[in-house]
Amino acid sequence: MNEIEQYIRVIQDFPKEGVLFKDIATLLQNPKAMQLCKKQLIDLVGDQKIDKVIGIESRGFFFGTLLAAHFNAGFIPVRKPGKLPYKTISELYDLEYGTDAVEIHIDAIKKGERVLIHDDVLATGGTANAVCKLVERLGGEIVQCNFIIQLDFLNGKEKLKNYTIASALQY
Ligand code: IMP
Repeated sequence: MNEIEQYIRVIQDFPKEGVLFKDIATLLQNPKAMQLCKKQLIDLVGDQKIDKVIGIESRGFFFGTLLAAHFNAGFIPVRKPGKLPYKTISELYDLEYGTDAVEIHIDAIKKGERVLIHDDVLATGGTANAVCKLVERLGGEIVQCNFIIQLDFLNGKEKLKNYTIASALQY
């Protein structure tokens, strides 16, 4: 068993009935768990050159900045619509009911830059796939989509089949 699994709290029926929510708040509370998780996420990337790390709002910000510091890369927040103050581009993606969108600043990534995308959880892959499209529209090269947790039964891997994905834990 991966040692970090014990620090992840599972909450039944959040945010709606039938969902088993994986909560990383309990991992973030614990400095040993933070260090362990950080090391595992870094090891998933290896010694590849990274220019920018994207953290996906909001739980992708925590380790996203730590990864950026480790790889001596810039950190880029990708956020929900209307949150970023400068000019943005946005990408729509489907939810179970309706659509949502993610946005990035237009000057966040330069053509040819090598980008690591990070989030806490890969579920259906809709969010990460939309983020990949934003990066490609700005001319970035996606090195890896990197997650703490991958929910295998939701098959996000299929949606991200054109990209390299890596996760510390699989459920
Ligand atoms: P997807 O687009 O279906 O892959 O959902 C991924 C997004 O939803 C990520 O930004 C996650 O933070 C969030 N998410 C989905 N399931 C969970 C969960 O069990 N715990 C925490 N976040 C989740």
